[in-house]
Amino acid sequence: MGSTPTASTSFLVRRFVTLLVMGAILLGAGAAAAQTAGVQFRYSGRMVTTPQLGSRIDVVPVLRLVGAEVGYSPAAGTWAAELGDTTLQFAPDHHFVLANGELLEFPETPASSPQGGVLATVGFLEKGLLGPLGFHLEPLDDGYRIVAGPRVGRPLLVRAAAADFGATTTLVLTLERPATASVTQSAGRIDLALEDAAPRLDRSIPLRSRRVRSIEVGARGLEITLPPGVGLLSWHTLEGPPRVILELGERLPTPTPVPAAAAQPPIRKPSVRPVVIDPGHGGDDTGAISRDGIREKDVTLAVARRLARILSAHGHAVRLTRTGDESRALTDRTALANRLEASVFVSLHANASRAASARGAETYYMSLDDASDDTAAAVARVENAAGGGTHGGSALDLILWDMAQAEVLNRSARLALDIQHRLNSLLDLPDRGVKQAPFVVLTGATMPAALVEVGFLSNPGEAHRLTDPAYQQRLAEALAAGIEEFLRSGS
Ligand SMILES: [Zn+2]
Repeated sequence: MGSTPTASTSFLVRRFVTLLVMGAILLGAGAAAAQTAGVQFRYSGRMVTTPQLGSRIDVVPVLRLVGAEVGYSPAAGTWAAELGDTTLQFAPDHHFVLANGELLEFPETPASSPQGGVLATVGFLEKGLLGPLGFHLEPLDDGYRIVAGPRVGRPLLVRAAAADFGATTTLVLTLERPATASVTQSAGRIDLALEDAAPRLDRSIPLRSRRVRSIEVGARGLEITLPPGVGLLSWHTLEGPPRVILELGERLPTPTPVPAAAAQPPIRKPSVRPVVIDPGHGGDDTGAISRDGIREKDVTLAVARRLARILSAHGHAVRLTRTGDESRALTDRTALANRLEASVFVSLHANASRAASARGAETYYMSLDDASDDTAAAVARVENAAGGGTHGGSALDLILWDMAQAEVLNRSARLALDIQHRLNSLLDLPDRGVKQAPFVVLTGATMPAALVEVGFLSNPGEAHRLTDPAYQQRLAEALAAGIEEFLRSGS
């Protein structure tokens, strides 16, 4: 959908053109000629030809055809259409329709017709006016047929996954293909409509959440039933893969009209699936700092650049989530990897520990449950606190689950093992092993993903080594060997 400012600007241009056209028609062939252009609408054995001007038609005769009472209120400056128990209000120069008090927003603004009606596109007529009255359109050779009932969309598979945290639950609905979503909520229920789609639920993975009672396919899309006291806090969409993320919480929210999210643009497939390297932290987020001021964000970028050079030299396509000292939201980092359909996602970090003697590298992969041990949980807490996600709330709120991970997880475990194995053998470091923890930066990755803590900044000796170009190069070579071993073994 386009933005409102553009719509109103182009509206002014269109209005000017309309006036010129009308003037020309009136001067030339006379007023009757303006009626010759028209579009036919058929409904229940009856037909009307409604005036057309450019890409717009007069919607008033069409609304009358389906039996709606249509009238203009000069005092309010608005039009009203009533049919059954539905009342619509709309007005020229306004890009929304009120349907029984619910605000529907559109990227276009209807205009007054010179004949006294309302000019709008067929799309606006169907989505904003006929749709709320319970009809949809079927195109014919010479116009449209108006059919009762909602448009039947293409089947669309939806996979639901939920993660419960202290005060909130993140519900992730992964869509098989992009579709414009709109969300409305009433007491105890959320309705998720997906444009031109007939959603089907993938029931192969059971949904477990204390804040979601059930998800069913209903007349308007998906009906999400909530337990008493739970409401929708916020929602947003992500791409690569297309997802609708709903934040649920234990408070009764004030119902407000939620604007529809824009459809995600089609994703261009890269010819070669790149390795995506994520230098942890950046910008204001320094990450861990050693006692003498060595910053994690600088170490991770230096090692990432070397790793990218090595992999490129070996013929791999490589992308970094940041190439300079910039901040990046944790969720944007995997989103980039997903968008590029990366073969592998590796996030680089450097550790800090209260035990100054702790040294060595450790590799993590995503855990859907709890961390493999308390230390792993603590590392995840620190890295997750880097936060900076796509919306407010605690870092844990940002965890975006994707149960497709179940299959990806096994491969992530192998990737982590391959990397850790090479780090141990090439760097002669104490084996700290492969661990699992719920890292925000790894969640939502749709490819094998691992997070490497390349060493301890809290250990003075290791901190210095991490700034040594020769050691950084050896680290990068070990990481490259691990990634390549994984890719060779048929990732
Ligand atoms: Zn870090």
